[in-house]
Amino acid sequence: MIIKPSIRSNFFTNCHPYGCRQNVFNQIQEAKAFDKFEGPKNALIIGGSSGYGLASRIALAFGAGSNTLNVSFESAPKAKKTGTSGWWNNIYFQELAKETNHIHKDFIGDAFSKEMKENVMEYAKKHLGKFDLVIYSLASGGRLNYETNEIIKSHIKTIGEDAKGKTIDILDLEVKELVVTSATEQEVKDTVYVMGGSDWHDWIDILDQNDLLNPEAKTISYTYVGGPTTEKIYRGGTVGKAKEDLERHAVLMNELMKKKYNGEALISSSKAVATKASVYIPSMTNYISCLYDVMVRKGVHESILEHKYRLFKDMIYGDKRIVDSQNRIRVDHLEMEEHIQKETVHMMETISNEDLLQLNGTKLFLRDIYQINGFEFDNINYDDDVDIDHLAELQPE
Ligand code: NAD
Repeated sequence: MIIKPSIRSNFFTNCHPYGCRQNVFNQIQEAKAFDKFEGPKNALIIGGSSGYGLASRIALAFGAGSNTLNVSFESAPKAKKTGTSGWWNNIYFQELAKETNHIHKDFIGDAFSKEMKENVMEYAKKHLGKFDLVIYSLASGGRLNYETNEIIKSHIKTIGEDAKGKTIDILDLEVKELVVTSATEQEVKDTVYVMGGSDWHDWIDILDQNDLLNPEAKTISYTYVGGPTTEKIYRGGTVGKAKEDLERHAVLMNELMKKKYNGEALISSSKAVATKASVYIPSMTNYISCLYDVMVRKGVHESILEHKYRLFKDMIYGDKRIVDSQNRIRVDHLEMEEHIQKETVHMMETISNEDLLQLNGTKLFLRDIYQINGFEFDNINYDDDVDIDHLAELQPE
């Protein structure tokens, strides 16, 4: 099979397995170049197959020598379908992480389900032991309510007034105007149900009930705060309400973690980066492009791996933690610096659509988007045939 990018509404409907391998390989090389750090022995990563969850897994496996258990929802290749990038990231993470001589286990399926939680508990009891760190890095468009059998969808909408924005159409390479409509009360509730903190809390409760948390165990999830240009659509919108809920659950869980384990439940506000999830958010494409441009010029741009490595090495397990008044870890402080925000906002407000597409930051953003789906790596010949049937024999471990 010859695999070329297939994109619909900024969503890649396919991926290139060898490119996914290259993406994982590159992140591992980045991690290996950093100083090692004392971290968790056993880490559970919910949503560890792509984006921030994958970068966290690599940082911990190669930086701290952690055993990692990853829960993700991914599709295997089938007939003419390549499978999802996260599927291949899991497969190749396993292959490349063999050299760590640690345990790395993948569970594929619905993290929201009780069955998945029970499977993970059973495995941990038999093969791994208690966890020192639980990362909740899920980004999902929907959640099955197992009681009603109804699929609840999350919405990316404003609250109150509609908002105008612009987005880069990745396929047509055009900047398109768009209107983000305001959500109904139900849509806000549904988004909180899918992307809020209740499922994270359920995971911690079940781990606690099964005595699977070690003394001083920590749990962390990733929020986004952002600046004025993303305010209406993100923080002030439906997703922002879900993030408030996530942060509220962290405060609640922190009480249990502190009292019972002398541990912590943490929120880290992470930098805006190109991931499968972030391109769905209107105007994020333009914001990230301008932000990358400014941060590269100022010498403070970080790759996704660098960002998570710094989070764990310096702020979670090191003594360089930066927190805000709500006790959220602000590893995004470089993005949020006043001069970076000012210049990014100015650029977004004044740049023409044509110039935006020519920006180095936009090129970097687009390259990242292609690469997380396995495309645009110089050392891969995309005209070569990929024996997908043969590759399909590789199974998650
Ligand atoms: P992503 O799409 O790259 O990864 C999402 C992960 O969730 C994948 O591993 C996927 O398999 C998993 N997943 C989704 N539904 C699942 C299900 N039902 N069961 C099991 N696994 C499931 O997303 P990302 O951008 O890395 O986002 C991760 C977290 O980081 C989110 O909470 C997001 O809001 C937050 N965050 C992202 C950014 C950003 O710019 N991308 C910035 C700050 C915070």
